[in-house]
Amino acid sequence: MTNPLLAPGKGPFALPDFAHITDDDFAPAFEAALSEARANIAAIAETPDAPSFANTIDAMELAEATLDRVAGVFYNLSGADSTPAREALMRDLAPKMAAFASEVTMNRPLFARIETLWNARDTLELTCEQARVLELYYKMFIRSGAALEGAEAERMTAIKALLAVLSTQFSQNLLADERDWFRTLAEDELEGLPDFVVEAAKAAGAERGQSGPVLTLSRSLIVPFLQFSPRRDLREIAYEAWTARGANGGETDNRALAAEILALREERAKLLGYESFAAYKLEPEMAKEPAQVRELLMRVWEPAKAAAEADAAKLTEMLQEDGLNGDLEAWDWRYYSEKRRVAEHDFDEAALKPYLSLEAMLNAVFDTANRLFGLDFKPLDGPFYHPDVRGWEVTRGGKHIAVFLGDYFARASKRSGAWCSAMRSQSKLGGETRPIVVNVCNFAKGDPCLLSYDDARTLFHEFGHALHQMLSDVTYQFVSGTSVARDFVELPSQLYEHWMEVPEVLQKHARHWQTGAAMPEALLQKLLAASTYDQGFATVEFIASALVDLAFHEGAAPKDPMAKQAEVLAEIGLPKAIRMRHATPHFGHVFSGDGYSSGYYSYMWSEVMDADAFAAFEEAGSPFDEATAKRLEECILSVGGSVPADAAWMAFRGKKPGVEPLLRGRGLLDVA
Ligand SMILES: [Zn+2]
Repeated sequence: MTNPLLAPGKGPFALPDFAHITDDDFAPAFEAALSEARANIAAIAETPDAPSFANTIDAMELAEATLDRVAGVFYNLSGADSTPAREALMRDLAPKMAAFASEVTMNRPLFARIETLWNARDTLELTCEQARVLELYYKMFIRSGAALEGAEAERMTAIKALLAVLSTQFSQNLLADERDWFRTLAEDELEGLPDFVVEAAKAAGAERGQSGPVLTLSRSLIVPFLQFSPRRDLREIAYEAWTARGANGGETDNRALAAEILALREERAKLLGYESFAAYKLEPEMAKEPAQVRELLMRVWEPAKAAAEADAAKLTEMLQEDGLNGDLEAWDWRYYSEKRRVAEHDFDEAALKPYLSLEAMLNAVFDTANRLFGLDFKPLDGPFYHPDVRGWEVTRGGKHIAVFLGDYFARASKRSGAWCSAMRSQSKLGGETRPIVVNVCNFAKGDPCLLSYDDARTLFHEFGHALHQMLSDVTYQFVSGTSVARDFVELPSQLYEHWMEVPEVLQKHARHWQTGAAMPEALLQKLLAASTYDQGFATVEFIASALVDLAFHEGAAPKDPMAKQAEVLAEIGLPKAIRMRHATPHFGHVFSGDGYSSGYYSYMWSEVMDADAFAAFEEAGSPFDEATAKRLEECILSVGGSVPADAAWMAFRGKKPGVEPLLRGRGLLDVA
């Protein structure tokens, strides 16, 4: 019997044959797909024919088709519906897939062919998309060190291995510090804590073999403790312990590791010919260079700092009304801010939820996509990979666009968080391939399923990523859908969230699941007003971290990162009662791997763009302005990575993104 993963898909949309795929099929399917891919790559590298775009790049695009198909199904299932067998296979596959990827980029004859094409690129009569794909392939090889030889190549390999070890060590130290610290809470120390915090503290105590509740350093426990505990002495102890993670001396101290990691990164960038690690990391991003990142962050910094300082003055008054003298401290901010929130913006989540059923919000998501892009959604019969998964055929004017799967409910087999993945990406090379796109969330299942405001926002966010995949219209899978710069990829998703806050969308769709009544206007207004609360604090703690991350990777690596951190914070004048969101010894984004090193800014970069992109609709007079929606699809959603991010943006907006819409969205404009 043939392996269902290796067979072409089923039905009119060639979906994976979910009903017949078993866990036993994955390992042999990967083995077959990997050896097919290896053979294809070897054939490309070794052909005696002179290199051409078709026999090199086109061929590489098609070389891993089977592997893509098998991996598309497997990696989706291992995140959304894991089993012990799938977890074991994940561990087994990780080194095999990594080895294959490095075999490809270290394949010298293959690189020689790509380099030949690159050097002759002006004579090849390539389409714009082909030229872009060639550039991205060439840079991928260069950036991984394919052009290095002899001692330099060896050093590069050694640096990569060292960095992998050191960043793993960094995460493990952090975990150890987070695991080891706890403090038992006596009965009278539970004062003021809501039931859910007390319950979480009891569960944490039981987990640690204690008879009573304990405070731990887990964010989901310590943040509400800092918000609700009236005991200033305990808040100080808790806050200091929380912010000392990775800096407690001894074996788990991360400070020396951070210095080592930064030095190796600088060496790696220099070997590749870049002046700094930041220059290396930012080259493929929309930001391109450190100066651009700094400029944007500083444009937001000043208004954010002014707002935070105004808030600090109010919170200090509240502190003094409590009979305390002296300054507002870092462990006071969340406590007084929560009190102020209740006084100024309180609304009852429980009263809101009946208006936000999953069905109602899905209708809102689909209706918005229909009004903006003319998409229609028709339910599809399963079976899909789990009974909770629902499917829709997405069409436009009767033409098939994509298959969309929604996997919305939490279950033990699903990892936490929410994400969008393509089980199959759009492409046209070798025949039109339309995508299969999955949105995975972790909503509490209920009858009906009622969402919180944050949940509903997540639904819109992930669907924005799904649109980026579904509306993709490129030839090469390498640049399809969400295959764009990291500081650009959150634009479509964060932008889509804005439509949830369009009053007419909530008025039309946020209806009581039992009575069908529209959300009361007063509730709607409170909801919209609450979204800008305490954004001075949030923005300041974020930007402080982003600027330190940037400073670490520009120029020579600091020998003493803690001193460098202090220098950066002094320079920008960080308000006394606010600290970095992530200080160096526990800045996992930056040191537990390469992902967000010199890239922590990208969250805010995307937010500046999504706010400005939505402003384009407002300027055109309507959130559903037809011409603007058309331009958004043509210039951004359909082109994937086939156009550089800054060019795609300019084609859509005609000017660089301004920070004013973000400042307005965060309530940071016109701070008194
Ligand atoms: Zn996202």
